[in-house]
Amino acid sequence: MVELPDEAATARLGAALLGLDGPALVLLEGDLGAGKTTLVRGFLRAAGHAGPVRSPTYTLVESYRTERCAAHHFDLYRLGDPLELEELGVRDYFAGDAWCFVEWPERAAGLLPPAELLIELAVVGTGRRATLRAGSERIGARLRDARLDVS
Ligand code: ADP
Ligand code: MG
Repeated sequence: MVELPDEAATARLGAALLGLDGPALVLLEGDLGAGKTTLVRGFLRAAGHAGPVRSPTYTLVESYRTERCAAHHFDLYRLGDPLELEELGVRDYFAGDAWCFVEWPERAAGLLPPAELLIELAVVGTGRRATLRAGSERIGARLRDARLDVS
């Protein structure tokens, strides 16, 4: 578990993911306001993206390319039918050489490939708490190297 006392701490956790052996598929779970978009913003800033990082609530996905990497940021909150994901050509997004961050992955109902990392964010007092689960031994080891506590 990682305690995130303020917004900057959530952004730093996102930035720390850049140090992993990516690109990777990262699922972000947690209620509205838990800090999922903040974490992705922290990642993208650290990757060198200078512009805004908006929540892709209506577009379902926003794509970025920085000098360090490519990334796709999904927010599936408003996904009506998991089949919409197929229409979006989601397989191409995941098959490419890009980081993929998915908010509300549970809405995709099994249409997502196995993830390297699952991050669950929860509101605790005025801050947040992150629980990290590695999808592979390799990522688990990398997270521990980065001093991130994985369960
Ligand atoms: P989500 O994408 O999960 O709905 P957001 O990333 O949009 O959530 O964040 C919602 C609010 O939570 C923002 O106002 C953000 O500043 C705040 N926030 C993010 N992380 C923290 C934290 N660790 N402590 C306190 N507030 C935070
Ligand atoms: Mg969000």
